[in-house]
Amino acid sequence: MSSAVTPPPKKVNRIGLEVVNYKGSKTTLCAGCGHNAVTERIVECFYELGVQPWSVAKLSGIGCSSKSPAYFLGLSHGFNGVHGRMPSIATGALLGNRTMLGIGVTGDGDTASIGIGQFMHLLRRNLPFIYVIENNGVYGLTKGQFSATADLGSKLKTGVINELPPFDCCALALQWGATFVARSFSGDKKQLQAILKAAITHKGLSVIDVISPCTTFNDHEGSTKSYSYVKDHEEPLHELDFVPFYEDISTEIAEGELKEVAMHDGSKLRIRKLGRDFDPTNKFQALEALDKANTSGEVLTGVLYVDTSKPTFMDMLSMDDAPLATLPESKTRPPKEALDQAMEELR
Ligand code: SF4
Repeated sequence: MSSAVTPPPKKVNRIGLEVVNYKGSKTTLCAGCGHNAVTERIVECFYELGVQPWSVAKLSGIGCSSKSPAYFLGLSHGFNGVHGRMPSIATGALLGNRTMLGIGVTGDGDTASIGIGQFMHLLRRNLPFIYVIENNGVYGLTKGQFSATADLGSKLKTGVINELPPFDCCALALQWGATFVARSFSGDKKQLQAILKAAITHKGLSVIDVISPCTTFNDHEGSTKSYSYVKDHEEPLHELDFVPFYEDISTEIAEGELKEVAMHDGSKLRIRKLGRDFDPTNKFQALEALDKANTSGEVLTGVLYVDTSKPTFMDMLSMDDAPLATLPESKTRPPKEALDQAMEELR
């Protein structure tokens, strides 16, 4: 007699979706490329936090990194923009519908070279947007030339030495107004997850610079963006935990060793001190720490800065909460009296 075997129940998140609902198409990037690990973390974080995929707008520019949105959140809205112009498209999309959660994935070429102007203007606006830089120090798509984030003195496979100083995207983000700034490493799963989850709950601009090695063109001896260099020189500022608002937050950790940052939805970012006394709400301390790390060749990772008090771009513009496309004409067009008054003033 045969007995029917009951399949185990499918694992779902708090909104009833399986992890497969957060995946995209199969990656076409090189085997071992750091960007694939970043994609996996994005899938896990959106799944674990129970974000509705159809409420997400994912954007990118041009480069190997900018292919990544095709590999996650296949049920979301997506737009692959012109090289270096993703910030203005994100700004327009999110102003048009502020109920969307925006995430952009870009590279060091897309951000620090052709897109540096757009990046700077994004920084000063505090747009609620997650801006992930997959930073490998080279232009992978055009066969591995140095990018503007390549470290001084780092070496190409061909032996060419970089003689120009790099832009530090985290330092730029701190100086020009981003309200959540972090650096991580694609090989550090736990840290990158905690940072991404905190960024998802942050209402403002989150800049996450992820050192994401290019295995094909920049993973050799002499590169400062290789797996082995970052593993040997990574200096985590602290140990991070992220506790979502719907989980019990009264757990573990000795007092005095821990700083909790309340995120906008009531979630907590728990920051445990490792050797150094670092306050992630002190922008000047963050800039000083980055400067020291850059001089000594360390790769400083962790949350460098969080400010949950600054108004967002939408708040500054007094934008309506509803998507613009759903507003009645009475809300999108000034009344006749306003025109009459303007005309009167010009007489
Ligand atoms: Fe990744 Fe480099 Fe391959 Fe591009 S060329 S997919 S950055 S490993």
